[in-house]
Amino acid sequence: MDHVTPVKDQASTESYSNVGTSQQRRTRIAFAILTRSSKTELQGSKRFAVIHREFKSQIPNGPGKEANENGTWVCPFEYPGIPKNKFFSKTEAPEDFDWKVQNVFKIKGETSPATTYEGSDVLWYEDDDFAAANPEAMKLLETRHRFLEALQKTTEDPEVLKCIDRDQYLTKELFNNQQHLYWHYEDVSYYHNKIHVDYGIAGFSYMCLREEMVAPPNFQYIPYHVVKESAYKRCLASKGSKKYLELEAEVAGNKSFWSSKRTPTACEKPEKCKCNRIFQLLYKDTEDSLEDPRDRELPRKLLQPNKAGFLDLEHFNYISNQKIIVECSNACGCSEECPRRRLQQGQKKRLVVFYENEIIGFGLRAAEPIKAGEYVTEYVGTVLAPRNNNRNPSYDLGIEIVVEGLVIDSRKCGNLARFVAHACEPNAAFIETHSRIFETDPLIPRVSLYALRDIAIGEAVTICYYSRDKLSSGKGIKCACRPNCPNHLPKN
Ligand SMILES: [Zn+2]
Ligand SMILES: [Zn+2]
Ligand SMILES: [Zn+2]
Repeated sequence: MDHVTPVKDQASTESYSNVGTSQQRRTRIAFAILTRSSKTELQGSKRFAVIHREFKSQIPNGPGKEANENGTWVCPFEYPGIPKNKFFSKTEAPEDFDWKVQNVFKIKGETSPATTYEGSDVLWYEDDDFAAANPEAMKLLETRHRFLEALQKTTEDPEVLKCIDRDQYLTKELFNNQQHLYWHYEDVSYYHNKIHVDYGIAGFSYMCLREEMVAPPNFQYIPYHVVKESAYKRCLASKGSKKYLELEAEVAGNKSFWSSKRTPTACEKPEKCKCNRIFQLLYKDTEDSLEDPRDRELPRKLLQPNKAGFLDLEHFNYISNQKIIVECSNACGCSEECPRRRLQQGQKKRLVVFYENEIIGFGLRAAEPIKAGEYVTEYVGTVLAPRNNNRNPSYDLGIEIVVEGLVIDSRKCGNLARFVAHACEPNAAFIETHSRIFETDPLIPRVSLYALRDIAIGEAVTICYYSRDKLSSGKGIKCACRPNCPNHLPKN
C-alpha cells in the first residue's frame, strides 16, 4: 500500500435515497432510436437520442475517463463502459486530479473505514473524520452491511457464509490485491450504478459470494430503451401514439361509447385525468372483439394504483386476463409527483444483482424492504420488431398490448431487470405500461416490475416466466427455483 495522501474530496457515491427531481425527469432522455442508415431523416431532440449502426457504452466523464486515457495500470478484463486503465497511485495522477471516493469498506482489525478512488489504484485507510465528512458514502456502506446481515440469517450454504464475512470485513490481503476479481466487481458496480445515479434513479451493485468468483456479467448497460428504427416507426404509426383529443374525436359520433360513468382515479387531478378513458379508447375489449375465437378468452384488465402509487396485486397470479397500467401524461394536468406516474418516477429502492448458483447464474435481490404492490424497476432493452425465428430469444420480453408484436431484448443492451430469475411461486411480476411524460412523445412500450407481496432485505425478486400448465406438464428441464420444486421448465 502506497501511503500517499490524496487530496480529499466530498464522496461522489450518491445516496440510494437521492432519486431524481421532477425537473430531471422532464429533461432526461426518454429513449434512443437506433438507425442503420447514415442518411436517416431522424433527428435527435431533448427527449430522445439518435444512434447510428449500434449502441456502444461510453465511459462517463470524470476522473475514471481521464485515467483510462492516461493511466498505465491495466485491468485484466475488458468491459463496455468500464475504464480499462487507471492511474498508478498519486505519483502518476496529475496534480489537479479529481479524487473522488469510489467505495468505502470496513477492514479487519481497523476501526476506521478504508476507501478506493475512481480512476486510481489508491486504496486508502481513512481517519476518524472521514465518516462525518462523507455521510452518503457511509450510508451506502451501511446498506451493504444490512443486506449481508440479512443473508447471514437466511442462508445455510457454508461457502456463502464464509464469503459474507469477506464482504463485510475485507482482509488487508484482499484490500491490497488489486488483481483480485473482487475489485473488478467493484468497478462494474460503480460504473453501472453511476448510470442510475446520473439518470436520477436508485442504484445497485453486483455481488458474488463465492471463493472462486465468476466474472461479473458483461453487457452494455442502458437506463432507457434503444428502439430500432423499424420498431420506432411501428410505435409512431400505432394508435397509442395519438394525442388524447384525437382519440376522443374518433368516437365523437358514437354516443353510446362512454356508457360508464367516470371511474375513480388516484391521479392528483381526478377531474382532469384521462388515463381511464385512454384505457377505454385503446385497450378495453368490447364484446365483439372477444367473440372472435382467435382473441383472448378474458377481457383485458386495467390495473390502477392507490394514492400512494401501490397496486392491489393480491390475486394477480389467479387472474389470467391480460393486464395493463396506464400512466398520466401532460394531458392529465397533474405534476410529476402524481401517484399514477410510478414508472416515470423510476426505481426508488436499491437492488443487488446477486450470483445465485451455476444453474440460475445471476439473480436480482432486494437491498431494502419492498412492499406488496410497490413498483420495483423497469425492464429495459432493445425494442425491435422480430422478422425471423433465428434470433436468440433468451432475453426477449414480448409485448402483447402496447404496440403488439414488438419485443424488448436485453441480451446485448439492458438493465438490471434482465437478471430477474424464474420462480414457480414468484413474488413479483412484469406488467405492460402505457407511459409517456408528454403526449408529443411517441408511445414506446414499457414494462414495469411490481412486487406481488412484501419482499425482505436480502430476498430474491422473482417472476414466473411460464404458464401453470406448462410448468406441470412434466416436459423440459427440472425446475430449480426452490428445493424439491416438482415442476419442469419448457425449452423455449
Ligand atoms: Zn396524474
Ligand atoms: Zn391520468
Ligand atoms: Zn419451480
